[in-house]
Amino acid sequence: MVRKILIYPDKFLRQKTIEIKEFNFEVLQLALDLIDTMRAYEGLGISANQVGEIHRLCAIDLEGIKEGKGYLVLANPILIYKEGSEIDEEGCLSFPELYVKLERPSFAIIRAHKLNLKTREFEETEIQAKGLFARVLLHEIDHLNGILFIDHLPIEKRAKVLKEWMENIKSKQKVYEKANVKTI
Ligand code: ZN
Repeated sequence: MVRKILIYPDKFLRQKTIEIKEFNFEVLQLALDLIDTMRAYEGLGISANQVGEIHRLCAIDLEGIKEGKGYLVLANPILIYKEGSEIDEEGCLSFPELYVKLERPSFAIIRAHKLNLKTREFEETEIQAKGLFARVLLHEIDHLNGILFIDHLPIEKRAKVLKEWMENIKSKQKVYEKANVKTI
């Protein structure tokens, strides 16, 4: 089911999510909803608190980031190692049409429970990611901790970027239906 995506400055985006202890039907259903919603909005990644859910769960479009086929659903992802630095343009489903250049580690190792979409079970795993894959994973882990991509900008730049973005959104009086470009 496609869920409504919360748009900044919705307070729930600042909500830190809670570790999933029991991988039950509710969690599986949310995982499938995250995939449906990400597909509908053509995002590269999505986190549960972006659709108003408190579970520590996120999904990534592997094909969209050219890391294979299908979708990666991770429960309780934790960053255990990072290295290097890379600057690239980044967007977010909760900030339609906002893109900023951000510095992120170029390599990361993440530990998580990965959903096996065939058996529908969560399996403990460790993921090594570089480039865009590392960027998307770190963007989603930030979301799950209530951190937004704009938080990585220097404070003055952040204020300027947000002011321009909000004016732009208002002046268009636009209802956000569907992103026409890929966003995380
Ligand atoms: Zn995002």
